[in-house]
Amino acid sequence: SAWAAAVAAVERQALDAKVLLICHVNPDGDALGSMLGFGLGLLRRGHTNVQAVFPGPLFIAEPFQGLPGLDLLVAEGDACPEPDLVVCFDAASQARLGGLVDRLERAGVSIVLDHHASNPGFGDIPLVDPAAAATSVVAAQLLDRLGVELDAAIAECLYVALVTDTGSFRFALTTPAVHELAARLVATGLRPEEISQRVLDSRPFGAIKLFGDVLSRAELEPAAAGGVGLVWTFATLEDLIRHKQEPYVMEALIEAVRGAAEADVACVFKQVAEREWSVSMRSKGARDVSRVAVSLGGGGHRLAAGYSCAGTLADVVEALRAELTLASS
Ligand code: 5GP
Ligand code: MN
Ligand code: MN
Repeated sequence: SAWAAAVAAVERQALDAKVLLICHVNPDGDALGSMLGFGLGLLRRGHTNVQAVFPGPLFIAEPFQGLPGLDLLVAEGDACPEPDLVVCFDAASQARLGGLVDRLERAGVSIVLDHHASNPGFGDIPLVDPAAAATSVVAAQLLDRLGVELDAAIAECLYVALVTDTGSFRFALTTPAVHELAARLVATGLRPEEISQRVLDSRPFGAIKLFGDVLSRAELEPAAAGGVGLVWTFATLEDLIRHKQEPYVMEALIEAVRGAAEADVACVFKQVAEREWSVSMRSKGARDVSRVAVSLGGGGHRLAAGYSCAGTLADVVEALRAELTLASS
């Protein structure tokens, strides 16, 4: 099985073999948490040459600055060019790895841990479980199979990943097994209230003001077909400058917008450059937004997906409306 192949691929590495852990661009709690938790697990197994990396500048958003294992991180340019083993976390496609794809290709062997239904199954050993609530669930399973005991530091990383990807155990796929894993993690002594506060409920006052501006311009639209509504808003670079905020604060906006009861689909357009947008989508169930995202060049899950696009705001909103109309017919 793929599990046996993954275990064998790790076990046949010498303890000083070059191991490179990679995750998707703009890493979220699941990408960073599963990668660093697994990395700490490898250290615990005795591996001495473990690096972790993600594409783009080495910037850790404030909510993740307390994560254990951050010292495994290296800048993209310092990542081992020809690793013996690459393990990839939470990347729905190779496109999400930016310039790190070449490490995957040049690796002695690569294992891909993920939970996106849209993942095509890349890498030598894909361990993709669309039924897993987070990539950290897959990572915990592999650590178990490797006989690595989950200590408090590993547990904190995996817990952050679990909490962020399940919306604090609210979303679909929050199964009994997820709660059982959470119970094991909490039993190591971690403090859920401290972690939630640090990761989910702590942001600069300027971000609150920015949320006010962005939410006040939200629009509610009946869908052209299908009878379900769309709620959407947008955040611009100008908003960030006006409130002196970093782009990562925009990631939490979708959580507020998706609360509109009248809409089945919620969407936030986050400006990345003059005519470039990163788009977050959520569904309450009637629509499979991962299909919509895939059609627009992105990916994700049935109820949470995203993509990148170019054009004026009017253009990109219209392109989404058209795709939603198509998907409903
Ligand atoms: P979020 O809206 O929280 O950024 O992302 C929701 C889900 O959609 C995540 O599972 C994420 O992996 C996926 N996603 C977000 N943006 C993109 C993108 O640009 N490309 C792909 N393939 N998936 C994305
Ligand atoms: Mn992710
Ligand atoms: Mn994930």
